[in-house]
Amino acid sequence: ASGYALLRDPRLNKGLAFSEEERGVHYLTGLLPPAVLSQQHQEKRLMNILRQYQVPLQRYMAMMDLQERNERLFYKLLIDNVEELLPVVYTPTVGEACQKYGSIFTRPQGLFISLKERKRILEVLKNWPEKSIQVIVVTDGERILGLGDLGCQGMGIPVGKLSLYTALGGVRPSACLPITLDVGTNNQKLLDDEFYLGLRQRRVTGQEYHEFLDEFMAAVKQNYGEKILIQFEDFANHNAFELLAKYRTTHLVFNDDIQGTASVVLAGIISALKLTGGDLQDHTYLFLGAGEAGTGIAELIALQMTKTASIPVEEARKKIWLVDSKGLIVSSRKESLQHFKLPWAHEHEPVPDLLNAVNAIKPSVLIGTSGVGRTFTKEVIEAMASFNEKPLILALSNPTSQSECTAEEAYTWSEGRAIFASGSPFAPVEYDGKTFVPGQANNAYIFPGFGLGIIMSGTVRVHDDMLLAASEALASEASEDNYAKGLVYPPFTNIRTISARIAANVAAKAYELGLASRLPRPKDLANFAESCMYTPLYRNYR
Ligand code: NAP
Ligand code: MN
Repeated sequence: ASGYALLRDPRLNKGLAFSEEERGVHYLTGLLPPAVLSQQHQEKRLMNILRQYQVPLQRYMAMMDLQERNERLFYKLLIDNVEELLPVVYTPTVGEACQKYGSIFTRPQGLFISLKERKRILEVLKNWPEKSIQVIVVTDGERILGLGDLGCQGMGIPVGKLSLYTALGGVRPSACLPITLDVGTNNQKLLDDEFYLGLRQRRVTGQEYHEFLDEFMAAVKQNYGEKILIQFEDFANHNAFELLAKYRTTHLVFNDDIQGTASVVLAGIISALKLTGGDLQDHTYLFLGAGEAGTGIAELIALQMTKTASIPVEEARKKIWLVDSKGLIVSSRKESLQHFKLPWAHEHEPVPDLLNAVNAIKPSVLIGTSGVGRTFTKEVIEAMASFNEKPLILALSNPTSQSECTAEEAYTWSEGRAIFASGSPFAPVEYDGKTFVPGQANNAYIFPGFGLGIIMSGTVRVHDDMLLAASEALASEASEDNYAKGLVYPPFTNIRTISARIAANVAAKAYELGLASRLPRPKDLANFAESCMYTPLYRNYR
């Protein structure tokens, strides 16, 4: 490309950063104003503009516009300002963007595959311009963040997740493909909305749904081969567990809501052991919420115990209890429990609510994954603090309004003894003359590095031991300095290096398990990971 076309191609465009010489050689003279800015200078200019927007959605739209206009600058900005921009391109702002997608949609950033394309999904895949895809993030839009069914407007989620694959995990942008499957929506508001982008019908279920998914999964493998990583994102739990179980033996699949969450939370718990003392199996765990996140985390904690304490998984599970909307999960409820709750139906008399469950079980670790805010009440936290020197409190429900408690509440009600982390970010808290820094159990710590590890090693299947490898790598990243402030996760500023280390640990496990196809195995996997990572610096055009 040259001249005008160069400015219009987001992969090639550098805007005002084209040098005098490049402008001359590539017929750009006159198409740009005289000023020549460096990439850093452009960055500064854009951050200035972004910070002037008071409305978060405006920032989101400005970022999406930049991605469409100058891809390298978009990623440079995202990498260099990750803490500030993560909430813009991802949760919470992406949620609002999905809700209003019908109004703000400009250009397609991924593939929309609807029921109308039945029997020709393979053809539709071929319409995507990039051919060497390495990772797909796919949603059916039924459970977008904590916002429920947003139908095909859930597209913002795969787009956002994949921009983090690139920014944080260094996967090339051209290797990333966002896909939204439109199987209808049960959201009446959207069905009635004149600007809704999707099919105007209710969701198909049962056989029709599963045949559609089957066709999609087969087409993806046929088009991209065995080593395409497919990340399921924001499916409702009545499909998520089943799809993962069904395809994990035939495809390279990963469910971030179940497995990614589990890995990041386990990392936080392993890291917190440095502060609470004891090993994983010395603690008792109580969850509020027994869905994708809750049971996913519970299962991975139990698996880790089988490795570190050499105990059978049944015994490990007995240290873990869950409460759902009907109270403590106990064996007398077995008849009516969904299958993913069955492993947690231990012998115990029925307990109706969380406070009673806390007093009955006396957990040392309390984890909130119900999506319902303000449920870790003063009584609950005080009870935790009454039988634990250092209670570990994880309030994971998103967004901030749904958090089980605030950081300030956790520290205050426990008299400064709680170790606290949350799903949505909270600012540091002063209590009793000391500054506490809450950790954020953000999935973005894990999935980009996890995916990079898989891709760079040519791994063909995801094994749960690889999730443990990722957790251990992340857990070892928190420093003494972090621990001194009660912080169990490392800061995000260093995330690319962290991702490379996670990738190395995941790949090492994949080689050990015989699941990695890239041979010979690179000697230094951490170096190899870094060398594989995309960097968004401008190239010279001469
Ligand atoms: P989900 O599959 O729908 O599960 C929700 C669970 O919470 C269900 O077991 C439900 O009980 C239970 N529940 C709902 N209302 C309740 C109440 N009032 N009292 C007790 N239990 C109640 O949802 P999910 O995917 O697990 O997500 C749950 C939350 O976790 C969301 O807010 C999400 O944002 C958050 N999350 C955070 C992270 C993170 O921090 N990294 C990652 C993933 C998810 P029933 O089974 O009885 O209906
Ligand atoms: Mn998700």
